[in-house]
Amino acid sequence: MNRPDLLDQLARAAQERAQRGLHRRLRAVEHTAAGCCSIDGRDFVVFCSNDYLGLAAHPDLVTALQRGAAEYGVGSTGAHLISGHHRAHAALEQALAAWTGRERALLFSTGIMANLGVMQALLGRTDTRQPGLCLQDKLNHASLIDGARATAATLRRYPHADVDAAARQLAAQPDAAALLATDGVFSMDGDIAPLTELAALCRHEGATLMVDDAHGLGVLGPQGAGSLANAGLSQDDAPILMGTLGKALGTGGAFVAGSAALIDGLVQFARSFVYTTAPPPALAAATLEAVRLARAADDRRERLRHLIARFRTGAAQLDLPLMPSTTPIQPLLLGDAERASDAATALETAGFLVGAIRPPTVPQGQARLRITLSAAHRDEDVDRLLDALPHALSATNL
Ligand code: PMP
Repeated sequence: MNRPDLLDQLARAAQERAQRGLHRRLRAVEHTAAGCCSIDGRDFVVFCSNDYLGLAAHPDLVTALQRGAAEYGVGSTGAHLISGHHRAHAALEQALAAWTGRERALLFSTGIMANLGVMQALLGRTDTRQPGLCLQDKLNHASLIDGARATAATLRRYPHADVDAAARQLAAQPDAAALLATDGVFSMDGDIAPLTELAALCRHEGATLMVDDAHGLGVLGPQGAGSLANAGLSQDDAPILMGTLGKALGTGGAFVAGSAALIDGLVQFARSFVYTTAPPPALAAATLEAVRLARAADDRRERLRHLIARFRTGAAQLDLPLMPSTTPIQPLLLGDAERASDAATALETAGFLVGAIRPPTVPQGQARLRITLSAAHRDEDVDRLLDALPHALSATNL
């Protein structure tokens, strides 16, 4: 018998990744206050979390979670379609639908599961439907790409934000049912998708537009309703909206919002909804409070805009390699993966936690520091980070 051992293969692949300086390290973080954390007893200001509005540790969310646990217990006890769909989940779905201006919303345990579920329901293998076409921006989140790959559909990835290229790909297959999926705000670049143009293209070509607004919800648009609301686009323009709850909302989980027919279709066919345990109802109760806070958080959004402007102005004065982003995701493009790791390490020494994003998360040669801002930061946090950055970057130039 000459069978290769799978665990040996895995260990070798991990070793090879480590030799290329791309090893991923798992560390336990203790969040000590909004925007701060400690690791192994060392304190940091956090510039890599997705807690854009600074709600994750908000006392009202903590209270809602505690009350929810006291009232409902901890576990949901089952899948949504069996025993797990609690009235706290139903109330949250209604609040999310109302906030995003959609007919209905459906909760998923994570954003990854929501994206997989939509792809599967719309493009999955069935006896009656012809395999469809799925167009995606090259920089879409991994779960949109993985979701489409797991279906019978043909996946075509267009160059980042290139609406003309997407139009050509659609026109080349005029008879295929088509889904065009894009991030609303791109998670590693921070720029906003050309949603108005994509919606017009989809309308013209009879394709369905799906927007993953993980990083736009709570941050952009009136009442923080997200990047579609920011562009003035409705459910007719973008029939499928996916939002996550673990970023600006400060809790965890995700939802899909759209027509009643879409939601019923997901309930029937999205396996990542049907076959999983519903999230704890207390978490839904806390998220309902988060929606209330986020809708009313114009002051936090204003504060975030102020911090973004402060960071960009300071970084431009220092000639740092900013990318064209107007959102709280403010990457500095460094290119070399080792350089990004070294810069993140130097920043840690100075007391800042910043993510080094390296291939394969971003394309080869585009490693970066992914700096994220939060309404919880103080002006002086940003100023101190700007003071530390030139030194951290020059330490990597040797
Ligand atoms: N979509 C995008 C654009 C994301 O950035 C993320 C999280 N990194 C997800 C989906 C997945 O969401 P979750 O963390 O809830 O699985």
